[in-house]
Amino acid sequence: NTPLHELDPAVAAAVDAELHRQQSTLEMIASENFAPAAVMEAQGSVLTNKYAEGYPGRRYYGGCEHVDVVEQIAIDRVKELFGAEHANVQPHSGAQANAAAMFALLKPGDTIMGLNLAHGGHLTHGMKINFSGKLYDVVAYHVGEDGRVDMGEVERLAKESRPKLIVAGWSAYPRQLDFAAFRRIADEVGAYLMVDMAHFAGLVAAGLHPNPVPHAHVVTTTTHKTLGGPRGGVILSTAELAKKINSAVFPGQQGGPLEHVIAAKAVAFKVAASEDFKERQRRTLEGARILAERLVKDDARAAGVDVLSGGTDVHLVLVDLRHSELDGQQAEDRLHEVGITVNRNAIPNDPRPPMVTSGLRIGTPALATRGFEAEDFAEVADVIAEALKPSYDAEALKARVKALADKHPLYPGLNK
Ligand code: PLP
Repeated sequence: NTPLHELDPAVAAAVDAELHRQQSTLEMIASENFAPAAVMEAQGSVLTNKYAEGYPGRRYYGGCEHVDVVEQIAIDRVKELFGAEHANVQPHSGAQANAAAMFALLKPGDTIMGLNLAHGGHLTHGMKINFSGKLYDVVAYHVGEDGRVDMGEVERLAKESRPKLIVAGWSAYPRQLDFAAFRRIADEVGAYLMVDMAHFAGLVAAGLHPNPVPHAHVVTTTTHKTLGGPRGGVILSTAELAKKINSAVFPGQQGGPLEHVIAAKAVAFKVAASEDFKERQRRTLEGARILAERLVKDDARAAGVDVLSGGTDVHLVLVDLRHSELDGQQAEDRLHEVGITVNRNAIPNDPRPPMVTSGLRIGTPALATRGFEAEDFAEVADVIAEALKPSYDAEALKARVKALADKHPLYPGLNK
């Protein structure tokens, strides 16, 4: 028995049950991944005990000599990984990274532009009841009929509203953004360009997606999505903005940094610089492309299933269920029943209410981490397509899911 089982059997049982859930089902939530055991070891370390307000070499607490080493390693690695002049690795999450970046560059009441939430943007890009929507004047841009961000609209809205900050980035969008075009527009209207690469940072690190860092004043990210590390955030910026960013994070937004999480981020950045990681990101992209192709095979299309923008360039596919009998909730429930976890997602001009939606967001990073190859992604795509038909054989599909899960064991070392 572990110390946790001894002290708190109720929490231990829930953790064990979650391990079993992750091992026995297929995780296809596009924002999730499986952190390596070494990352979890760092995150579960004694560094959790240490207060370290400030930055390496300039702390407000004694005894920081070892956490200084850890935080400096994390900073150096992430700068190198993305070619950034400055990095702050302290944001506790992606939302806090965005809050701090905006806090550094804006005053309340300034105008920002971001991708509309229902068109794929994130809450922190200007949603009404998020801090970003409450503190700033928000002008949202959209995707066009082709499912791609309408850069003509971005330019028009920027010229009309003269924002102080343009946010480029997304939570549910299957294509790449044109960072150079965003920067040109930002420069024309005197705005900062902030790219939120939370979703696609792992692809960038692997060199399989354009890097926003050379184009943007500030780049924010999470460390737990395609990047595959611990839950957390990072802000990258030009050297010129370094001081503003650092003081916006601490003391502007946060108190003591989570040095145990920063240690885990450092480990994840080391992993992200490896050839194995590159190969995993390649399979992530391949898996998403296979999914997009196979979900719209003839009989699936007949059941009203389509894929937004006609495909994908990234690690996720947006399934369009506007012409399906199933709404997003029902489709999510069906896949859950057969052992595949996805999330329903509002799609542009969604006719159904936000709690139900007409879309699914399906991602491949976690399965790629599990070792899925092209043939496994083809099989899981076919299982999904079967489950979304009017009639389906749940037991047969569950068996196919189990076979895939058994073929690619997850965290075998953690089994008791
Ligand atoms: N930015 C984007 C683009 C996201 O998709 C997310 C999370 O979904 C976040 C920021 C927020 O990250 P967190 O959940 O760590 O606050």
